[in-house]
Amino acid sequence: MLSDICYKPVFAEQEVYMRRTAKLLTEIYDIPPKACVITFGCQQNVSDSEHLKGMLCGMGYILTSDESQADFIIFNTCAVREHAQDRVYGNIGKIKQLKKDNPKLIAAVCGCMAQQQSVADKIKKSYPYIDIVFGTQVFHRLPEFIYKRLKGSKRIFELSLENGDIVEGVPVKRDGSFKGWLPIMYGCDNFCTYCIVPYVRGRERSREPEEIIAEARAMVEAGYKDITLLGQNVNSYGKGCSHGVTFAKLLRMINDIEGNFVIRFMTSHPKDCTAELLDTIKECNKVSRHLHLPVQSGSDRILKLMNRKYDRKSYLELIEAARQRIPDISITSDIIVGFPGETYEDFKQTLSLVKEVKYSSLFTFIYSPRENSPAAAMADPVSRQEKGRWFDELLQLQDEIASENVKQNIGKTYRVLCDSVESEDVISGHTNGTASIEFKGGNELLGQFVNVKITGYTNTYKGVII
Ligand code: SF4
Repeated sequence: MLSDICYKPVFAEQEVYMRRTAKLLTEIYDIPPKACVITFGCQQNVSDSEHLKGMLCGMGYILTSDESQADFIIFNTCAVREHAQDRVYGNIGKIKQLKKDNPKLIAAVCGCMAQQQSVADKIKKSYPYIDIVFGTQVFHRLPEFIYKRLKGSKRIFELSLENGDIVEGVPVKRDGSFKGWLPIMYGCDNFCTYCIVPYVRGRERSREPEEIIAEARAMVEAGYKDITLLGQNVNSYGKGCSHGVTFAKLLRMINDIEGNFVIRFMTSHPKDCTAELLDTIKECNKVSRHLHLPVQSGSDRILKLMNRKYDRKSYLELIEAARQRIPDISITSDIIVGFPGETYEDFKQTLSLVKEVKYSSLFTFIYSPRENSPAAAMADPVSRQEKGRWFDELLQLQDEIASENVKQNIGKTYRVLCDSVESEDVISGHTNGTASIEFKGGNELLGQFVNVKITGYTNTYKGVII
């Protein structure tokens, strides 16, 4: 099977390791060994895990979600919140017992958390039963790491932020059969002061448009109906590249692929969201009428401290421009409550911005300091309890806005992709603008588009197929 795939030279080396590992595994195991991939964090990690699974299957592993059955376990970690890191340490602690039960077990940790030297040092010292630790820019070298460890090498720690090349041709085993992730770029150049992505995922790099189009076309041919383009800041796709393809142009190129599918994308940075992009969303029939535009704060003072590079006024103008062009556009956002130095006066400006924009939905977080980020060194005098009160106030406001949105949506009809089974005769799906609706229907509708009229709301929209 491997010979059917065309690898770029940089992955060709790993293809050799894949073959060698596959052979070695047949010598070690009488039946195919099992591998368990445990993913924490964002969609980028989910997508990376799909590539880890592709490589593992290429080496002859059978995937399992049962850790106790696995001969290889890998934790693909996230560093965005402290809570996520604590969960990872709790999980990798369990490997000690699993190794007693299965001495051949190999355990690995990769992803954003593993990319941090302090984390790698801690694992080296306190978790001696972890065999392999590697960072975000060398994840395609998994076959090499497994091969070397199976051959008896000492524990492997590989955190190099190589030259930032994008490795094409890494096998992928997608979790879904009709909804899929498609990374278009990696890393970030923005250096928001609360974030460590630029330090753990490296600088911004865009894939070549031809590679993306070929992958999108292959996904459509394989039956994918919902393709989400991924990047930390998709709006700046192509910056610094000689091909001259902007994100808006890329969307048009994917929109031109024949087939019945929806194109989504995440995440957009407000400073790079252009009129060209808004026109493209308006004019391309396959592009979702949805913009996730993380505002983070409504206070200019805090936006400056966050290094977000836009202000409240320009953000609101952007929302206005989007709604003028695309009146039915769904706009969602992220907000951080309690950034270091934020006062209640600043927070009130966030509340007023939320009231003004009336988001379709909001992802809200209480600020969590990330080690080595500039914000972690800023004075942060407001207590956690106080931030919790602000947070609740914001949630209450958003609930009121959501109730208003619900009233306006009842009676409307949307084209929906059926994507989940809720019970024996109830399924659910997402509209073009990402709202979820439940309605009567059976398994046979999964992966199909249907028109659904919204009839009510209890925790989620209810509807009927028309
Ligand atoms: S845009 Fe800011 S918050 Fe988003 S990944 Fe880049 S640095 Fe982090």
